[in-house]
Amino acid sequence: MALIVQKYGGTSVGSTDRIKNVATRVSKYRARGEQVVVVVSAMSGVTDNLIKLAKDLMPLPSEREMDVLLATGEQTTIALTTIALHSLGVPAVSLTGAQAGIVTDGVHTKAKIQNITPKKIHDLLNQGNVVTVAGFQGQTIEGQVTTLGRGGSDLTAIALAAALKADLCEIYTDVDGVYTADPRIVSGAKKLEEISYDEMLELASLGAKVMQSRSVEFAKKFGVVFEVRSSVNDHSGTIVKEETKNMEDIVVRAVSLDKNQAKVTLVGVPDKPGIAARIFKAIGDATINVDMIVQNISHGSGAPATDLSFTVDKPDLLKAQKVIDNLKQEIGFGKVIATDNIAKLSIVGVGMKSHTGVAGKVFDTLAREGVNIDMISTSEIKISVVIDLAKAESAMRAVHQAFLG
Ligand code: ASP
Ligand code: MG
Repeated sequence: MALIVQKYGGTSVGSTDRIKNVATRVSKYRARGEQVVVVVSAMSGVTDNLIKLAKDLMPLPSEREMDVLLATGEQTTIALTTIALHSLGVPAVSLTGAQAGIVTDGVHTKAKIQNITPKKIHDLLNQGNVVTVAGFQGQTIEGQVTTLGRGGSDLTAIALAAALKADLCEIYTDVDGVYTADPRIVSGAKKLEEISYDEMLELASLGAKVMQSRSVEFAKKFGVVFEVRSSVNDHSGTIVKEETKNMEDIVVRAVSLDKNQAKVTLVGVPDKPGIAARIFKAIGDATINVDMIVQNISHGSGAPATDLSFTVDKPDLLKAQKVIDNLKQEIGFGKVIATDNIAKLSIVGVGMKSHTGVAGKVFDTLAREGVNIDMISTSEIKISVVIDLAKAESAMRAVHQAFLG
C-alpha cells in the first residue's frame, strides 16, 4: 500500500464539475488500496478576487487580516472536495493547514514552514480516510493564521510529501506536464519525461510558470521526487528529480520566453566607483526587482562615461523611470531610454555544463532570423538574451528548432 500526496491547482478545482472529477480520480486510487492525501488550492480566481475586495476597502490592508481572508479560499475547497468524495461513498476528512499540523513563522502573507507534525493525518489515513488538506496556509505556534505566498499550495504538497515520507507526490494542473517550450507558441514543443530540479528552477524563475519556485527549492533540499501532470486525462506527466548522469546527454532541455520584462538604459553614466551602487540602491529601495544588468566599457573622449542597461518586470517600468529621473541631477548621466518592447529568450539545460558551442549556436540561429541581441546573460545551465518583442516568438521557434526540433 502506497501513500500518495496529490495536489490539485485552482483550475483543477475551478467548478463543482471539476471537483467531482478530482473526487473520481482520488476514489480510483483508493479503490486500488492506496492511501491518499489531497492538497487543494482555492478555486481559480477566488484568491485574486479576495485580494481585490480587500483593496477596494483600503490600498494596503493589514497583512494579518489578509491571511485570515485568503485562507478561506482553500478552506472552501477542502470542504467541497470532501463532500464530493462522500457523495461517491469514499470516507474522507478535511483539515485546515493548522489542523494538519503545519507550523510556520509569523511573517504574514509569505510565511515559511517551520515544521510539520503529521500525526493527525497518519491517524486519519490509518482509519481508512482520504485526507484533504488546505494548501497555502499554516499557523504560528501562537495560533495565528498564516499563508505561504502566492502559489503556495505547491509548497504545502511538497512539504507534506516530505513529512509523511510519501511514496509519490503528484502535482495536478491544467497542462500535461513540463514542455520543451510553450506549446501555444511552438507547435513542435514536446512534453518532457523528466527534468532536474535546477532546470525546473530556472524555468520557474524565467516566467514559464508551472510551479512556485520556492516549492521546487524545497523539493530539491529534501529530495522529494514529484510528477507534474494533468487532472483532465490519464497521460503520464513530467518527473522532477535530482539530476542524473544521462540528463547531461541532452544539451538543451527547454526554451522559454518571458514577455513581462522591460529595459532601462542610462546613456553616458560617469564611470567611477559608487555610481552603480547608488543607482541600484535607489531601485532596490523602491522594491523594484532587477533581473539582468549590462554595463559597457568606457567610451567617448571626455571624462570616462559608460552606458548602463538593466531589465525590470514590465509593471515596474514607470516606477523605475521615476527613480532614475530623480537621480539625474545627482549622478549626471546623459539620457534615459526606457522600453517595454523587449522579451527575454532563454535556453536551459544541465547538459550545457559539459557541452561546448551552445552560445555560438544560439547567436548564429538568431542572426539567421535577423534578430538583434540587446543583452546577454548566462549561468552554468542557462543562456538568456534580450531581444525585440516583435521578433520574440519567431526567434523562439527558430532556437527550439535548432536545438530540440
Ligand atoms: N490560492 C493561492 C494563490 O492563488 C495558492 C495557490 O493557488 O497555490 O496563490
Ligand atoms: Mg496555483
